[in-house]
Amino acid sequence: MSRPAIAHISLDAFRHNYRVAKTMHGGKSLAVIKANAYGHGAVQCAKAIENEADGFAVACLEEAIQLRQTGIKKAILLLDGFFEAVELAEIVANDLWIVVHAEWQIDMLLAAELAKPLQIWLKMDSGMHRVGLNHAAYQQAYMRLLGHVNVEKIVLMSHFANADNLESEHTNQQIALFQNAIQNLGVEDVSMANSAAILGWPQARANWSRPGIMLYGADPLYDAKTPLRVVMQLTSRIISIRTIQTGESIGYGSIFTADKESIIGVVACGYADGYPRSASNAPAAVDGTVTKVIGRVSMDMLMVDLTDIPTAKIGSTVELWGDQVLANDVAKAAGTIAYELFCNVKRIQFTYSDN
Ligand SMILES: *Cc1c(COP(=O)(O)O)cnc(C)c1O
Repeated sequence: MSRPAIAHISLDAFRHNYRVAKTMHGGKSLAVIKANAYGHGAVQCAKAIENEADGFAVACLEEAIQLRQTGIKKAILLLDGFFEAVELAEIVANDLWIVVHAEWQIDMLLAAELAKPLQIWLKMDSGMHRVGLNHAAYQQAYMRLLGHVNVEKIVLMSHFANADNLESEHTNQQIALFQNAIQNLGVEDVSMANSAAILGWPQARANWSRPGIMLYGADPLYDAKTPLRVVMQLTSRIISIRTIQTGESIGYGSIFTADKESIIGVVACGYADGYPRSASNAPAAVDGTVTKVIGRVSMDMLMVDLTDIPTAKIGSTVELWGDQVLANDVAKAAGTIAYELFCNVKRIQFTYSDN
């Protein structure tokens, strides 16, 4: 028998969520499958929606080549663009679109000798202040690219810093600044919205969206009414059960001490599998009953409270996140976000279903 920690991926749920994103947005949607589809398996996810997706977005050339090598033919956008001029030939050869976010990229692009012109997504910094050209430089950059022999088409894009906070005025400020910068360029292909903006900021939709996290079933606005389906169910099994007495503590650092006689179950999953070490106290479900992680999460194992689940036994299934225990809730308990939980899953076995 092999180690029972498993990530079950529902490609059907992934496809459903893509349809939700696309319908809500109302325009064209690039499915963001960077970082191995947020840990879910980029090739499997891409294949599950290739017939209907308007295209895909990944971080870098290596991620795109992996998709091309498995036969993905749809458009693929490199969200980081390129890092060195030598990548441009491969970008052309693999028929990729690129984000251009900095003057040095424009210089390299215009100086290159390319076999074919490229589709450019020109990124403006409208307030996130991470990458992108600022308001003053943006129109000028557009004019430099426009009509150049290496440029096939230009899409105008920007990215939000606070779209997951519906209270923040920052998103409206970003939209206003971006719209001001692009209003007299007469370009139809515009892209602003990530998942949070698709869900929470209808005024940011434009004609291209870039949903990521919502495709994986985690609502960045934590709104339980959003019709998304859970894509990853992370489960393992109970491998040991013991009863501890009042005053006894468990695990590294003895951070949990029983205040009554307690039954403890040990689960084969730990931080080396990507379960966050900071998630002591997170919810977990044993044979369908929600309980709590207790004590310190260790590398290969964690512990759950079975005191109120008398039917639990060796081999009982433990859902660490999935339909019963939302990744968002585990993330909250761990002081992080579902994005990080998903991306960190490793070592364990992945299984895929498509119905
Ligand atoms: C990762 C990324 C997205 C997707 O964001 P989500 O919050 O996961 O929807 C969209 N646009 C850019 C530029 C990104 O880097």
